[in-house]
Amino acid sequence: MSLPVRGRSERLPVHRIYCVGRNYDEHVKEMGGVAGRDPPFFFTKPADALVTDGRFPYPPSSHDVHHEIELVVALGPDLKPFAYGVGLDMTRRDLQAEAKKLARPWDTAKGFDHSAPISPLVLAEDTGHLQAGAITLDVNGVRRQTGDLSQMIWSVSETIAALAGLFELKPGDLIFTGTPAGVAAVKTGDVLLGHIDGLGDLDVTVVPSA
Ligand code: MN
Repeated sequence: MSLPVRGRSERLPVHRIYCVGRNYDEHVKEMGGVAGRDPPFFFTKPADALVTDGRFPYPPSSHDVHHEIELVVALGPDLKPFAYGVGLDMTRRDLQAEAKKLARPWDTAKGFDHSAPISPLVLAEDTGHLQAGAITLDVNGVRRQTGDLSQMIWSVSETIAALAGLFELKPGDLIFTGTPAGVAAVKTGDVLLGHIDGLGDLDVTVVPSA
C-alpha cells in the first residue's frame, strides 16, 4: 500500500495505521466520557483499509456507521512527522458499543475493510508542522464536525512518544490523531467533505456495499 503525495511523483509506502482514541474534549463528552488528560489509548487498522478513490462502500453487519474526521500524520525516516493527510476513521458504532459493553476488542468496529478513507498526503516541508487550524466535516453540504487542531488533548509529538513506548515505529506508519465533536451516522449516497486548514480537502461518497 502506498499513498500519493501532492506535488511529487513518488508515492509514500505505508507501513501500519495507528489510531488515537478520545483526543478532543468535546468528542470525549459526546461519547459519554469525562474530559481530561487520561493517558492516550490506541487501536489499529490494517494498512489495506485505506481508501484513496473517494468511494466508501457501506460495510455489512452494521446499521450505524459513523464518520470521524481526523488529521493523519505520516512518519518519515527519522520517525517524526513527514507528511500530513485528511482522513476518516469510519466506525461501526453499533459494534463498538457492543464491544465496549462486553469488554471485547474493537477490530470489527474500527478495522474493517475500506474503513480509512484518506486524501493525498502533503509533505511537512510544504505545509509546515500543523499544530493549529480548523478541521471540519460537511455531509451533503451541512456542517457536521468542527474543531481546531490546537484542541487535541495529546499533541502529535506526545502521541508519537506514547506510541513509541508500545510499538516499534517505522517510516511509513500513519497515525490517525482523533476526531473533534459531531460524529454521526452516514447512509448510502451521502457526500462527505473533510477539510483541514493548510492541507485541503477529502471528498468521499458512501456507495452501496462492495
Ligand atoms: Mn477516531
